[in-house]
Amino acid sequence: MSDPIKPKCCTRIFGGYRYNSCSRAGTVERDGKHYCRQHDPIAISEARERRSAKYQLAFEESMKIRRLHAAAPELLEALEQAVTSMQDSGYSDNHVTVKAARDAIAKSKGETK
Ligand SMILES: [Zn+2]
Repeated sequence: MSDPIKPKCCTRIFGGYRYNSCSRAGTVERDGKHYCRQHDPIAISEARERRSAKYQLAFEESMKIRRLHAAAPELLEALEQAVTSMQDSGYSDNHVTVKAARDAIAKSKGETK
């Protein structure tokens, strides 16, 4: 009994001046075609989706930071007004909220204690 012919990966790879067949074994079958694990279209699609999701998260985080930076001047001004208003209303400098706000304002201005 002869050894059955093992299928090869059907992917064609550009080798600089012409296309060559992938030399790996076709271990995965998709729609009647054989692929190696590297060229498996489902695995490629899943990897692409994982990368896309990762970049989408990074993009959303980047946009969140950009929006915060864009709003920073208004946030600082509003916080300074809130502190002034609280102090005018009788809150002491040692009130926990006033102190936290003043610390945040100092930090935003690069003032360290
Ligand atoms: Zn292949």
